[in-house]
Amino acid sequence: MVFDSINTLEKAYDTYYFSHCLNPASDNFMIATTKTCLSCQRSLHGRADKKFCNDYCRNTHNNLLNSDSNNYVRNINYSLRKNRRILQGLFASAQKITKCTKPFLHSKGFAFSYFTHTQTNKKGNIYCFCYEYGYMVIKGEKVVVVKKGEY
Ligand SMILES: [Zn+2]
Repeated sequence: MVFDSINTLEKAYDTYYFSHCLNPASDNFMIATTKTCLSCQRSLHGRADKKFCNDYCRNTHNNLLNSDSNNYVRNINYSLRKNRRILQGLFASAQKITKCTKPFLHSKGFAFSYFTHTQTNKKGNIYCFCYEYGYMVIKGEKVVVVKKGEY
C-alpha cells in the first residue's frame, strides 16, 4: 500500500493504533486491566471478584498459607503477643516497674521460652523482653517486670 501524503499515513496509523491497542476487546487491553490468579499469577477472566483460576489454584494457595512452616511462625508470634499482653496487664498507667510471681504468670498462660530479645542493665542483670516489656526471674519465684527504657 502506497500513501499519497504524510497525512494519509498518519491517519492510517491512528486507525491502526486505535483499533489494535486501545480497543477494550483486544488482548493488550485485557492484560493491562485484568487481575491475576493469587496462586499461579495467570490473568483471570470472568467475575470481577474472582481470585483463582480454578479449585486447584485455590487449594494450592490455601495449603501454602496453612503449611507447617507458616503455622510454626504464626504460633510463635501468637505466644509472643500473648506474653506481651500479660505483662502489659500488670502495669497501671504511670507505672514503670512492677513485680509478680512465676506461678501467677504461668496461671495466665505466659510462655517463658518465648521472648523477642534480651537486655542487660547496668548491674549486669539480664531481662528477657516481649517487645517493650521485659522480665527477670529473681530469687525463688519472684519476677521483676519493666517497661522498655524505664528501668
Ligand atoms: Zn491459577
